[in-house]
Amino acid sequence: MSAMTVSPRTLAIHGGSPVRANLLPYGRQSVDEADIQAVVEVLRSDWLTTGPKVGEFEEAFAARVGTAHAVSFTSGTAALHAAAFAAGLKAGDEAITTPMTFAATANCVLYQGAAPVFADVSGDTLNLDPEQIEKKISPRTKAILPVDYAGHPAELDPILEIARRHGLIVIEDACHALGAEYDGRRVGSVADMTVFSFHPVKHITTGEGGMVATNNPQFAEILRRFRNHGISSDARQRQSTGQWHYEMVLLGFNYRLPDFACALGIQQLKKLEANLARRREIAALYTAAFHEIPGVIPPAVRSEASPAWHLYPILLDVEKLTTDRAQIFAALRAENIGVNVHYIPVHLHPYYRDHFGFRGGEFPVAESAYARLITLPMFPAMSAQDVDDVIAAAAKVFSTYSR
Ligand SMILES: *Cc1c(COP(=O)(O)O)cnc(C)c1O
Repeated sequence: MSAMTVSPRTLAIHGGSPVRANLLPYGRQSVDEADIQAVVEVLRSDWLTTGPKVGEFEEAFAARVGTAHAVSFTSGTAALHAAAFAAGLKAGDEAITTPMTFAATANCVLYQGAAPVFADVSGDTLNLDPEQIEKKISPRTKAILPVDYAGHPAELDPILEIARRHGLIVIEDACHALGAEYDGRRVGSVADMTVFSFHPVKHITTGEGGMVATNNPQFAEILRRFRNHGISSDARQRQSTGQWHYEMVLLGFNYRLPDFACALGIQQLKKLEANLARRREIAALYTAAFHEIPGVIPPAVRSEASPAWHLYPILLDVEKLTTDRAQIFAALRAENIGVNVHYIPVHLHPYYRDHFGFRGGEFPVAESAYARLITLPMFPAMSAQDVDDVIAAAAKVFSTYSR
């Protein structure tokens, strides 16, 4: 085709020119010179692994989320595992969680030999529906693991009320929600234990890393031991007191986050406010634009929630469209917009189908949302042009496929 016959409205997937020349990813870390210097300084110091930066990072983090304790781990997954251990989950126990999450949320229950029990989500936020949780409670239930999907806090008060009534522990997977608020309270300070991830696509990064925030000193002590082979004091404490003696008091792992990773975390935390503000700004621009584009349902925000916008997931309004998610996804990718899908519901993964007999159809709200979800790019370093490109590509693609 000659350039004359290809209109700017012709989709790239149909041979038109893409909205942008290079792929815009859905998420990306921001690392600056101060971050790099902080890591280099630790590399030149005496302590590569557990050293002074670990406690410094944990204290700064606890102060930010408003808890008495924060315990660092090598990943969000390790942090979830430790929280499941500290909650006392064991073989024969059940923990209720959402299918609309990354597999690690449910896997941490399996690590403890306990059984994850899924409950369906609410259609607007795609967070656990308290009514559905209630239906899944059995004499074996020991914990509830809500996820703050996309950074929108789960219904924490109703969930905590159910938990208190049944004597359950609430482990909030807030890997999407660092900096979010629920009813004026900071995510991290509300549940019994709150888990965060520092993977590069998350709000702050340490390469790999995670944290459990809690106000409960017993949980904090178990978490610290669990990440260090179950040993009751760390090597640095022993050196400073001149002791050779140590005791392994529980079966733990080596989940210690290195000192240079914590140095990066301390620096990253300083930029959290600015990065959250940018995420909120991008979300507001998107939502204003997408209300005008037929076929797109922007993410819902409940009145009690101040989301942290880890993701910006749209739902397709299929009645208004002539095609399906696969085609729209492919068309947006061809425009060089790095769309993604969060998430394949956990119970539909082959491992969960094979081990628990799920066939699909068990969680209709989550499954219907999954078929209509597309995650758009959302990260603080996005330029005004990047944001415009996403909106232009969406307008182009959805107008082509609208009824
Ligand atoms: C990222 C993430 C995790 C796992 O964190 P890692 O640091 O990658 O191990 C767990 N749950 C949710 C919801 C996540 O988004």
